[in-house]
Amino acid sequence: MNAARARLLAGRHPQSAEVLLFVAAAYELIGEARPDFAGAQVLAERLVQSLASIAPEPLRGAVPDVAAYFQAPDPYAPSSVYARLALEPWARHAPLQMLDPRPNECPRCGHAPQLGVLRPAGNGDALFLACSLCRAEWAFRRGTCPECLATDPDAIQFHSAEGWPHVRTQTCDACRACLHLLLPEAEPAIIPHIDELALLPLGVWAMERGYRKVWPNLAGL
Ligand SMILES: [Zn+2]
Ligand SMILES: [Zn+2]
Repeated sequence: MNAARARLLAGRHPQSAEVLLFVAAAYELIGEARPDFAGAQVLAERLVQSLASIAPEPLRGAVPDVAAYFQAPDPYAPSSVYARLALEPWARHAPLQMLDPRPNECPRCGHAPQLGVLRPAGNGDALFLACSLCRAEWAFRRGTCPECLATDPDAIQFHSAEGWPHVRTQTCDACRACLHLLLPEAEPAIIPHIDELALLPLGVWAMERGYRKVWPNLAGL
C-alpha cells in the first residue's frame, strides 16, 4: 500500500519523484517483515546495500545505527533515513507505550510528530498528530504549536495553496516551527506519511519564510 501510493504520487509530483521512488522501493523490500529490534539493524543495512543505485545522493554509503536513532534521533543525518525505515515495522508492532507522554510526543514510541491529519468529527474536524517513527496517530488540540505549545492566535497561522486542496500548512511565529496538516476528506486515498513526502514545494515555501519543520520527513524537509 505504501509503495503503490508512493509510486502513484511520484507520477503526479515530479519534484518529489526521486524520494518517492526511493521510498517505494524501500517499502517493497521491507514487505511484510516484522523484525525485532536487533533485526531492524540488519534490515537497515540491507536497505543501504539494495537501494544504493536509486538512493538520493546524500544517502549513498550511509551507515545506519538504529539503536542510536531510537535513543537520540538526529533526523538530519543521512543514515537516519535507513534507521527510520527499518525501525518503523518494529515500532508499529512492538508492545510500546510511553508512561507519561507529553502532548507533542507519540504515546506509543515517544518520537516527534511528522505531520497532522484533520479527520471529520461531529460538525467539524479533529486534529491528530502522526508519529515520525511508528506512524501512530494521537489527538492534539487544534490551533496549538506542536513544537512550543503556543496557542496565541496571532502566532499560529494556517496557509493553503492553489492546487493543494488537501493540505494546510500550520506555522508558528513564536518558535518558527511548521508542519503540514492533511485533509483526507479532500483526498480520501491519503496515506499521511507517504503523501507528506510529495509536499516538497510547500516545504520549500515555508523554509524560505524562515520556518522549519517540527520534524523533517524522509526527504530531509
Ligand atoms: Zn510513534
Ligand atoms: Zn511554536
